Amino acid sequence: MDSPDLKRQKTVSVIGGGVAALMLASHIDTQKYSVTIYEQKKTVGRKFLVAGEGGLNLTYHAPLNHIISQYEPASFMESCLNAFTHDDLRNWLTSIGIETFVGSSHRVFPVGGVKPITVLNTIVDHITQKGVQILHHKRWVGWTKSGDLQFESGDCVKSDITVLALGGASWKVTGSNGTWSNILSQQGIQVNPFQAANCAFGVKWDTIFATTYAGKPLKNIALSLGQKITKGELVITESGLEGNAIYAHSHSIQQELREGNHVTMYLDLKPMMTEEQLYTKYITSHRSKPTDILKHDLNIDKTAIAILKQMTDKALFGDIRILAKTLKALPIIITKAGAIDQAISTLGGIDLDEVNHHYQLKGINNCYAIGEMLDWYAPTGGYLIQGCFSMGYRLANYLNES
Ligand SMILES: Cc1cc2nc3c(=O)[nH]c(=O)nc-3n(C[C@H](O)[C@H](O)[C@H](O)COP(=O)(O)OP(=O)(O)OC[C@H]3O[C@@H](n4cnc5c(N)ncnc54)[C@H](O)[C@@H]3O)c2cc1C
Repeated sequence: MDSPDLKRQKTVSVIGGGVAALMLASHIDTQKYSVTIYEQKKTVGRKFLVAGEGGLNLTYHAPLNHIISQYEPASFMESCLNAFTHDDLRNWLTSIGIETFVGSSHRVFPVGGVKPITVLNTIVDHITQKGVQILHHKRWVGWTKSGDLQFESGDCVKSDITVLALGGASWKVTGSNGTWSNILSQQGIQVNPFQAANCAFGVKWDTIFATTYAGKPLKNIALSLGQKITKGELVITESGLEGNAIYAHSHSIQQELREGNHVTMYLDLKPMMTEEQLYTKYITSHRSKPTDILKHDLNIDKTAIAILKQMTDKALFGDIRILAKTLKALPIIITKAGAIDQAISTLGGIDLDEVNHHYQLKGINNCYAIGEMLDWYAPTGGYLIQGCFSMGYRLANYLNES
């Protein structure tokens, strides 16, 4: 009989070296498991670096129940977000040498001067010092007949436990290309079609408006769809709108578009004022030209006035009651979603019914899936990275205790 000391370590193969995988590797017990990350690109964490290009928004600072409520379905995400909260993430980063701060928008970033590549390298150093092996240029292509992991290079690997962390299907250049969906579908796993999320959406502008205003922001606006209202910023694009105020509606917009509907959203150009206040301010102005009143008395900027004119007709300025109402709820018709590859994240992926509450795939022995490859949604604001980190942590903890 083997003495406990001579017992063979179980092997854990983590396929994909993105956010979820790195967190799992950071927390898994390397005394208990021999852990290898197989990444198809020449480096890990490429999407993490892309995410950092506009400022690396690592998580969001708010009460935990507010954070959980931003996810779809929140009931699926709450266990991992409770197990590894936004505060836990910040404390853990501090423990490996990365300090963070909360920005004015409640978003959490590394402190000034710390670049995304430094954060990534610090995490990778931490993992490798623990004894996790990282292999690059290892593109996983499926399983052999005997159940070994198969790589494009021809190698086959026997693994006690497999963790799939292959990401979503946007920004293919980072390696997150979604081609794994065929492999899993062939195994009988339900993989829902990928759709762009946190992406631009199409609106039919006239050509002159589109060319004049593309790239211009609409700041401090609110945007509603059904009961949900988001505040923030929009940017006009040649073919529609983008920005955090619309990204946060992507899940519902895509649902409506899937059902074949055009989606009508309502844009509030002055969320800080009521319809009555706008009306009163307008009719008490000493100016005569409507555009001057909007600009100088109501403090509505040029781009907002242009979009108002673009979406309505001149008759609107003849009825100030209707004008005030429209400033609070300008209808915007969304016609389509932007390209998947340019989206910040994707909807679709492994149907949540295919995994148990430890992310174990029901149809494949000892195989787990974490991160964006599962079909959940979060808006921008650090929620995506937090969700992936929390899943990685929770699975590591579960394996450590198994
Ligand atoms: C432009 C942009 C900006 C973003 N900004 C933010 C932000 O500010 N805050 C935020 O929270 N989130 C942001 N995100 C989203 C966030 O980066 C992702 O949600 C997150 O990286 C997903 O993590 P993941 O671990 O699921 O997969 P990924 O990080 O995508 O990693 C998956 C890995 O698997 C590898 N892989 C895929 N297939 C194979 C295979 N067959 N064999 C081997 N390896 C494979 C890939 O090469 C990749 O390295 C942004 C994304 C983009 C594109």
